[in-house]
Amino acid sequence: MQPPSIHFGTGSARDYHYPSNSLIITSKGAISRGWIDYLKIKNFSIFDEVEPNPSIETVEKIISQFKNENFFSIIGLGGGSSLDVAKFVAFKMEKKKTMIPTTFGSGSEVTRISVLNVDRKKTSFHNDKILADVAIVDSNFIKGTPMEIIKNSAIDSCAQCSEAYDSKLGNPYTKFLCNTAFDILEYAILNDKFEKLALGSLLTGLGFGNSSTTLGHALSYVYSNEGIMHGHALSFTTLVAHKFNNSIFYKRFESIVKKLNFEKISLNLDLNLASELILEDKKHLDNNPIPITKNEIINLLKEINLNH
Ligand SMILES: [Zn+2]
Repeated sequence: MQPPSIHFGTGSARDYHYPSNSLIITSKGAISRGWIDYLKIKNFSIFDEVEPNPSIETVEKIISQFKNENFFSIIGLGGGSSLDVAKFVAFKMEKKKTMIPTTFGSGSEVTRISVLNVDRKKTSFHNDKILADVAIVDSNFIKGTPMEIIKNSAIDSCAQCSEAYDSKLGNPYTKFLCNTAFDILEYAILNDKFEKLALGSLLTGLGFGNSSTTLGHALSYVYSNEGIMHGHALSFTTLVAHKFNNSIFYKRFESIVKKLNFEKISLNLDLNLASELILEDKKHLDNNPIPITKNEIINLLKEINLNH
């Protein structure tokens, strides 16, 4: 599955003709950074308070704030957090969805997945009706993006395509997308050609969105729950997962993590409790190429802590 319409290219978000009377869902800074002016969009309402690692309460807040306004479509603008909230709101309100990523990593603009915090736990919702109607991928947005955000998005995309390549749900088509995505992302990161991340991240979204991420993502959420950014957590959890799975991407992923120079991480939560929480994540673990036991999970968490 993919959105019926994907617009790709430098300037594509500026040149697109937006329907009037839309609700834009984005994060603080969208106006001051000039994103809204860039779209040249008229007659819109805006919600610009999506927080990082957004919660289901944000979705409920937007729905109650705008439920009596008769707008035509919802435009999600921003990083994965803004897009995940926008897609979920539009899904609940049964509105058309146009998704415009300004960071390139989550692939959210082309997936049927929305990740939201429920009871302070990262939870991923999967539904065909969460898929966008229109995705607009414009690498112009990378200009002025802080390096910390570029790094976190880029490694998320690398983790997603390389985990999904090995997913049990994969097929030659998704593997082709994931493999091509990894080549592009690796080139972009190792050569500081960050505008290329836009294409790499789009192909990753199309690949993993149709096959699923696996052990690396399953291991990462306990770190996210302690406030570590998604990409930052994956740079260590996907690395140990690739080693465990004998992934063909293990060494290349390791070189990318080294180049991006992430600070080491460790878990505060008791490893026994953490492993039980991770084992509940069937959406990711059932698709892992190799079954994993509780003890093996504890050993992987110990390995990450030891590197600290
Ligand atoms: Zn991810």
